[in-house]
Amino acid sequence: MTIQIPFDNSYARLPGRFFMRQAPVPVKAPELLLLNLGLVEELGLDAEALQSAQGVAFLSGNGVPEGAEPLAQAYAGHQFGGFSPVLGDGRAILLGEVIDRNGARRDIQLKGSGLTGFSRPGSDGRAPLGAVIREFILSEAMHALGIPTTRSLAVTATGEHVRREAYLPGGVLTRVAASHIRVGTFQFFAARRDTEALAALLDHAIERHFPQADGPLAFLDAVIASQARLVCQWLGIGFIHGVMNTDNTAISGETIDFGPCAMMDTFHPATVYSSIDHGGRYAYGRQAEILGWNLAQLASALLPLVDADQDAALEAAQAAMERYPDLLRENWSATFRAKIGLVTEEPEDDALVAGLLQRMAEGQADFTNTFRALATGEARDQFTDPTAFDQWEADWRARLAREPEPEALEARLKQVNPAIIARNHRVEQAIAAALEGDLAPTTRLVAALSRPFDDLPEDLADLARPPLEEERVHRTFCG
Ligand code: AMP
Ligand code: MG
Ligand code: MG
Repeated sequence: MTIQIPFDNSYARLPGRFFMRQAPVPVKAPELLLLNLGLVEELGLDAEALQSAQGVAFLSGNGVPEGAEPLAQAYAGHQFGGFSPVLGDGRAILLGEVIDRNGARRDIQLKGSGLTGFSRPGSDGRAPLGAVIREFILSEAMHALGIPTTRSLAVTATGEHVRREAYLPGGVLTRVAASHIRVGTFQFFAARRDTEALAALLDHAIERHFPQADGPLAFLDAVIASQARLVCQWLGIGFIHGVMNTDNTAISGETIDFGPCAMMDTFHPATVYSSIDHGGRYAYGRQAEILGWNLAQLASALLPLVDADQDAALEAAQAAMERYPDLLRENWSATFRAKIGLVTEEPEDDALVAGLLQRMAEGQADFTNTFRALATGEARDQFTDPTAFDQWEADWRARLAREPEPEALEARLKQVNPAIIARNHRVEQAIAAALEGDLAPTTRLVAALSRPFDDLPEDLADLARPPLEEERVHRTFCG
């Protein structure tokens, strides 16, 4: 069976300094573990062909299909605030782009595909299978929650080991994205004062993501708006990205680079899972502020394109950035008003939401289950001191009395407050089983996460339960 993929590779047509041409490095014994049939369909690919020997070779990097133009993308980035002028794809290969069933251009990328010209000295270009399965589960869960994200097409085991804290089985993720252009891609050319490349990148990014933008400032506005929306969607679902470096902030407005990310169980704004985030820089409650910082780096990288007069450019970029706090407030408010069932808007609504969140933090309430239980009247059970919730509930009921269609409240709440999220302990349990050769817990979890707003059937109720103390996952890792 020959695998035919209608590639159309716009990134490969950009100037040579945007990337290094590089084929994926073959692996020893590729085995297809997970294939995302819904996404296969969306991309117009052939599931049967993908499961053939040739298909598995493509998904693992052992064979480059016709029309692919494999390359490693160049980018820079601020990592934990420190600038690295050259990062780039050190363990990923962009195979090319396809136009999906809806006419949208999508990157097909292999992650964990071996060393490239951008790999750090001493690194292996590979990914542990556990981390790859984790990204598959988390990214597909985010997608089902309605949050823009890169997608996961397939997981293949490599039959090789990678050396981390121990020798771990290796894996390759086939990742699909609107693009892999990052804030750090702009920074790469800005740092080299390569204004010509910066202009070409801007044109490319505008055409791909914001065709209505008529220049660098409109583009900046559009990125700020889509990222402000994204971060509020994260906050609304209890998602902690974990590594919000500028190389992990996508221009498209999609969530990208699922490393030590996590969905929160017990609510607290200072929650951190990432094993490398010692200072809590990327804690749940700091994400909006950090995103603002990342967007300011984008604004700064764009300055040479904004105006020949750099003082005027700076002033214009600052004006764009000044809209960020308002956008944030609007998106946050819209997200959380919906989470408590409000459709109209009143001045005190944000304070009402903040009052609930504060009681949740003090009362060690489970983030997901508390909001879901607002629909069923069982939210007080989530608090160490249920009377703290009762006081809030009285104010909430008074506010709800001024809302239209009270009979639709339960349905409204269930539409935005999921019954199930990718809880860390369930993800870890599924991965542990998968590494022992049992994929059933992973496929069960993935299936349950694909319909997060439905009431959970009895036989899946265990997946919604917060971790027992001994099940609790305290740290997540980069892979
Ligand atoms: P991340 O923090 O995972 O987004 O990655 C930051 C940078 O490190 C990127 O340039 C990656 O390509 C690179 N990198 C991460 N892991 C590896 C690895 N195992 N081998 C080579 N490069 C890596
Ligand atoms: Mg090159
Ligand atoms: Mg990254």
